[in-house]
Amino acid sequence: MEEIVKNETPERNLNFIEEIIEADLASGKHKSIVTRFPPEPNGYLHIGHAKSICLNFGLALKYGGYTNLRFDDTNPVKEDVEYVDSIKEDIKWLGFEWANEFYASDYFEQLYDWAILLIKKGLAYVDDQTQEEIRTTRGTINTPGVNSPWRDRSVEENIRLFEEMREGKYAEGDKVLRAKIDMAHPNMLMRDPLMYRIIHASHHRTGDKWCIYPMYDYAHGQCDSIERITHSICTLEFDVHRPLYDWFIENLEIFPSRQYEFARLNLTYTIMSKRKLLQLVNNNYVEGWDDPRMPTICGLRRRGYTPESIRLFAEKVGVAKRDNVIDISLLEWCLRDDLNRRSNRYMAVINPVKLVIDNWEKGRVEYFEAPMNPEHPDGPKRKIAFTKEMYIESEDFMEEAPKRYHRLKPNSEVRLKYSYIIKCVDYIKNEAGEVVQIHCTYDPTSKPGAGPWRSVKGTIHWASVTHSEKITVNLYDKLFTEEQMGSIPEGKDYSEYLNPDSLIVKEAFVEPDLLKDDSGIAVQFERIGYFFKDPKNGGYNKATALRDSFKL
Ligand code: ATP
Ligand code: MG
Repeated sequence: MEEIVKNETPERNLNFIEEIIEADLASGKHKSIVTRFPPEPNGYLHIGHAKSICLNFGLALKYGGYTNLRFDDTNPVKEDVEYVDSIKEDIKWLGFEWANEFYASDYFEQLYDWAILLIKKGLAYVDDQTQEEIRTTRGTINTPGVNSPWRDRSVEENIRLFEEMREGKYAEGDKVLRAKIDMAHPNMLMRDPLMYRIIHASHHRTGDKWCIYPMYDYAHGQCDSIERITHSICTLEFDVHRPLYDWFIENLEIFPSRQYEFARLNLTYTIMSKRKLLQLVNNNYVEGWDDPRMPTICGLRRRGYTPESIRLFAEKVGVAKRDNVIDISLLEWCLRDDLNRRSNRYMAVINPVKLVIDNWEKGRVEYFEAPMNPEHPDGPKRKIAFTKEMYIESEDFMEEAPKRYHRLKPNSEVRLKYSYIIKCVDYIKNEAGEVVQIHCTYDPTSKPGAGPWRSVKGTIHWASVTHSEKITVNLYDKLFTEEQMGSIPEGKDYSEYLNPDSLIVKEAFVEPDLLKDDSGIAVQFERIGYFFKDPKNGGYNKATALRDSFKL
């Protein structure tokens, strides 16, 4: 089990990558910095990628450099333009601009030429062994590997065979190109790693031009170098790849990009790998990549997350050198922090029970003013109709209430928010024993602004029966029941951990003005939470509750 970070991380001055950059700038090693964000277009971006985007783009902005967007499209089998488009949309939405849009496939010719160069230097060879043979001759951490029988081919033969691989003379798996390093190297990745494999598949950009494709380790550092990336930032699991990253650059004698690793983002109750997210989509456990329960950027956007909240989250999480799991409530906290300041307020009743004000004349309507956002009391106002028949939340009434319950109970008073104090005088139950109608009287002297303010312990929200609109609310909750999804045994089907109540659809009654809201961001349903109008189904998606503990 990994350590769970519960709260905001403490204030820090510089993170370790900033320290490196500042030292590099101070020493004159670099005049300015260039970073890149290198997604593989094989799925939609998730919140972990957002962390990496904020880091890469953020560093360049802070130090006056720039960031390239580079698609790591070296595996034609899993990649697609659909993903390229969504990735670009998501980065823009997060608020960042890339200096250049590049593709690893733009560099295939250059990478090929460099492979020839390494062959000529005696540092690469064509191997005829099968994938299985290559695997079994690699050795183990404690035992050296075995040299391939093809390791000492002549330069001429290697060049001829590699050219034939490119020309399509061989089937997949017949031959590979390997770097000639050291089959006894303590780092297994340095034991003659693969540089190229044969894949007879159309590529979404290069079509059928190529049937040999570079491996990640051969492509990534060289692409960085071509773009003169100064600080190539990736996640911790790549630290063992760094010697190989450096080996290619040194032996090719090209621009010395450097790789730095930070801890990948993990979140409680969340899976993050694109491969697993794709399974959720394919198994119809969710509606699609943009299902509001998904940790994808498009899912979070549809849920009601703002770019500001995600950027704040990335900053709060910071840059760690050790893997950990961040509590999902930190992400929710960041959203509330942003929306509290910016969102419009409305009252909505989600689990209605009818309330009748006995001493209010039928047909009488009185309007009350309320701020659109109490954080800006002098800002715009809205008007809310007060009528004889109302809805309140059924949770806001209790027949036999404990002492500390300050909402509505028999013979007791509450204020209907922004309006009068009412007193419960009676209530009606159905055969099942549920309260179906509450009778109250209102106190005309309690009108806000009309006399001295009278306080009561409880204030509840409400909606007029005749002057409200009906909407659909999509009440989202965590997709998984297990806090540490990263620790469930490999091979175990995580559908066993799906939360059956991750979506509950209900109807709610709201102030009619909500339907005209054009703020473009989530609104607050007072006392309940933040809700965002779903761009697809028109319902209101619960983005987050107002507090951790508030449950509908
Ligand atoms: P996944 O395993 O989820 O598919 P990936 O690392 O294969 O992710 P890429 O498209 O290759 O996805 O990643 C693009 C960039 O985003 C890389 O630099 C990668 O290190 C970074 N990244 C991916 N996942 C995370 C994460 N959870 N936290 C931080 N950075 C991440
Ligand atoms: Mg990947």
